[in-house]
Amino acid sequence: MAPSTTLKGDQFDCAQFEALVKRRFFFSESFEIYRTAPNFQGDNRGLYDYGPPGCALQTNIVDVWRKHFVLEENMLEVDCTVITPETVLKTSGHVDKFADWMCKDLAKGEYLRADHLVENVLQSRLASGAKGTTKKDPKLDEATIKLYNEILAQIDNYDGPELGQLIKEHDIRNPDGNGEVQPPIPFNLMFRSTVGPSAAAPVYLRPETAQGQFLNFRKLLEFNQGAMPFASASIGKSYRNEISPRSGLLRVREFLMAEIEYYVDPDAKEHERFHEVTSLELPLLAKQTQLDGKTTLRKMSIEDAVKSKTIDNETLGYFLGRIMLFLLKVGVDPSKLRFRQHLDNEMAHYACDCWDAELFTSHGWIECVGCADRSAYDLTVHSNFTGYPLTVRELLQTGPIRVEVWQALLDKKLVGPRFKRDAKVVQDSVEALAQPVLEKLAADLEINGIITLDTIKPLADGRSAVELSKDLLTIKKVAHLQTTRQYTPNVIEPSFGIGRILYSVLEHTYWHRPQDAARAVLSLPLAVAPTKVLIVPLSAQPQFVPITRRLSSRLRALGISNNIDSSSASIGKRYARNDELGTPLGITVDFDTVVNGSITLRDRDSTAQLRGSEDDVLKAVKSLVGGNESWEEIAQYLKPFSTLEQDES
Ligand code: AMP
Repeated sequence: MAPSTTLKGDQFDCAQFEALVKRRFFFSESFEIYRTAPNFQGDNRGLYDYGPPGCALQTNIVDVWRKHFVLEENMLEVDCTVITPETVLKTSGHVDKFADWMCKDLAKGEYLRADHLVENVLQSRLASGAKGTTKKDPKLDEATIKLYNEILAQIDNYDGPELGQLIKEHDIRNPDGNGEVQPPIPFNLMFRSTVGPSAAAPVYLRPETAQGQFLNFRKLLEFNQGAMPFASASIGKSYRNEISPRSGLLRVREFLMAEIEYYVDPDAKEHERFHEVTSLELPLLAKQTQLDGKTTLRKMSIEDAVKSKTIDNETLGYFLGRIMLFLLKVGVDPSKLRFRQHLDNEMAHYACDCWDAELFTSHGWIECVGCADRSAYDLTVHSNFTGYPLTVRELLQTGPIRVEVWQALLDKKLVGPRFKRDAKVVQDSVEALAQPVLEKLAADLEINGIITLDTIKPLADGRSAVELSKDLLTIKKVAHLQTTRQYTPNVIEPSFGIGRILYSVLEHTYWHRPQDAARAVLSLPLAVAPTKVLIVPLSAQPQFVPITRRLSSRLRALGISNNIDSSSASIGKRYARNDELGTPLGITVDFDTVVNGSITLRDRDSTAQLRGSEDDVLKAVKSLVGGNESWEEIAQYLKPFSTLEQDES
């Protein structure tokens, strides 16, 4: 793995960066002071609190997200509950399948995520060039290096038994203590609880915001006056009981997600705004490249990627383009962004294509946005279980057509007495049968005189199938004048982890002034910077107070966040402190301001300064924040100004 670099290409110093994040309280471990408290039983790994700049940065990223997606595309935003009944998540497949493979180190009593264990050990062997972690261990030969790289290129493709095999074959042990580990076993990542005093009803904290959106599909479709395609969106906390969270904000147990569910006709996955993104070039790491054991990126226009079927369809291509534009807007370094296609094993069985937007950080490439075509899976399973149709019915554009359809009829007089309490479930199960199933059952009924029908819900005695003979059930083809078409929409889901994006943006915008590693800067874009303007009076003299207060209130009136720093530190030190907070603009008030009303405007990244009247400078600030003018443009009407900032520090 190539070492990470700062925005200006210097080596990325993790310790310095982490110290900054802590010093400026972007975020920190939750319950930190309890960690050393007597008899503290808790485990605070993977739990983080955001401090003031972290909170403001998160709010601003979410704000950009809402404008970029929800407002721009008229998405229907919903806010659904975190607490989710077990039945819902059983139906969605999460209870049985939302798991990671873990290994136990019996000697240490430690649990390790199996794929991460293999990845970390092979990566550190490659880095040391030896079959252990030190240079003294036997040297790696060319063939082994190639093999390790091939394994790493498709690490997400292995299931538990395959990971177990790799662990055995390559003698992979717990790096902490070198102990052997047990074969991988699945560990479900959901937090389980119960509701109410009787504790009878099992629930989970949601692991994603998607299910709440699916369950409200019919209401959303009605709200949208039946028009398709459309999207719902949701921003909220999700919870995953990660096995061994160790990468700071990147792998946490409670995190903010922003998810879009785009409902589309499965036969019409074109997107009406596709032309807006066709020429965008995406850095792609396609499935086949990974299977060839490589990680080389290929830049491809969205148009070519969809035409060549590298990306499955227009709508998916459209969203990948929009995701890239969003990430660049909030400060992601384009050279540290790639779109990686899921390998077949990695992809949920129902998904037909899936790409992750991955960002390169000091922890390697990290999935920050997932974008999957989930087909009709979610709406179908919830509809089958509840018996509630989550479908779209549309008038046929061509006018009515005559069609022959399979029709199943139950003899109601016989079904009632025969199935008693279960009669309704049997009736609903027959009505839910799709045409191809009916065709097959018609043939079975003809040959055997009896068929077995799977019910959509368990019966009173727990069984989930009934036998129906010819006297109860007839299946025949009937002619039918069809005026409408009914279908279950496919869902394309871009799913964003806000914390991961926030962390990556902090890393990507971090650098230090030349020749001074201690003077760090976060070049956060104006759109997301926690505070837009720092107001600094030259000193704590009382004559500056009314001026700085007035400036602050005028900026507030323009909706521009600002801070007055009238501490006794030198101007240079105050600017340096705010460079670390990513504050893009600074206004200095000095003795000339008292005399002639002029003030200085400073640019964080270049430290260039311009001077003008209060009105002109505020106009320039408003333009810069609104993205209407650049620094070069405001320099046309403000005067250059210079002080020796370094000398003041
Ligand atoms: P997934 O549903 O697994 O594709 O996750 C969707 C997004 O949620 C990912 O792209 C990540 O940005 C984010 N995410 C998933 N798990 C975590 C975690 N443990 N900590 C932080 N973010 C996460």
